[in-house]
Amino acid sequence: MRVVIKIGTSTLTHATGKLNIRRVEKLCRVISDLKNAGNEIILVSSGAIGMGVGKLMLSEKPTDMPTKQACAALGQCELMYVYDNEFSKYNHNIAQILITAADVENEENHSNFRNTLFKLIEFGVLPVINENDTISTAEISIGDNDTLGAIVATSLEADLLILLSDIDGLYDKNPSEPDAKLIPEVYEITTEIEKMGGGKGSTLGTGGMATKIHAAQIATAKGIDMVIANGSDPDLLYGIFEGEKIGTRFYGRK
Ligand code: ADP
Repeated sequence: MRVVIKIGTSTLTHATGKLNIRRVEKLCRVISDLKNAGNEIILVSSGAIGMGVGKLMLSEKPTDMPTKQACAALGQCELMYVYDNEFSKYNHNIAQILITAADVENEENHSNFRNTLFKLIEFGVLPVINENDTISTAEISIGDNDTLGAIVATSLEADLLILLSDIDGLYDKNPSEPDAKLIPEVYEITTEIEKMGGGKGSTLGTGGMATKIHAAQIATAKGIDMVIANGSDPDLLYGIFEGEKIGTRFYGRK
């Protein structure tokens, strides 16, 4: 299978913004194992700004653009260093790709992006993709990595897109409400489903469920299934790859 896995900031870091070492180590081990089993895996990883914040020991997440972009530049380097260290343990090479919306919209750039990815996959390399936050402004930004994950999955005609988050999947209402229920399967993204997206969730994450539902619309329209699952237990990935009912699965339109 060719699978795009998007890893949210909340999966990579503790609430303090510092790296969740145990989680990241486990995640990289499971992904390496799934690659060893013959799967083609592409990562879309958030976390650059969070890691920059942690590295600079800032007391809170920055709100102004230059500070965010500086944190992203600092944190992206740290993020790749961590991934390289972890995946090297299992003899997997990683490659960094940073893109903006302009790169996806421009036909030539998009084609170069795809060709590079296909070549990396052919070499057995694990591509790690992120938005180029340093030069992204509102006009040329994809906006969130859930959407970027969907764009990558459709560009590569992936079999599956997995969004790892800090929650088990899509709930029928805000999960902080005690009677909220997990929706295991979505065959059609109705306006009712869209409304469940609500606003932003955690303090470190950026998209909330709205961007995940938007990503599902992009992926399923091209026939690609998308799963939202909890990144706190990386072992869940084994089950998802085997088609088990884990988290919320949006079925691609066939
Ligand atoms: P990530 O960093 O993984 O993208 P986000 O914090 O952006 O994570 O999004 C996940 C959060 O969305 C959840 O922790 C939850 O608080 C919030 N949320 C809002 N509405 C829903 C819903 N209907 N179902 C699940 N989560 C929801």
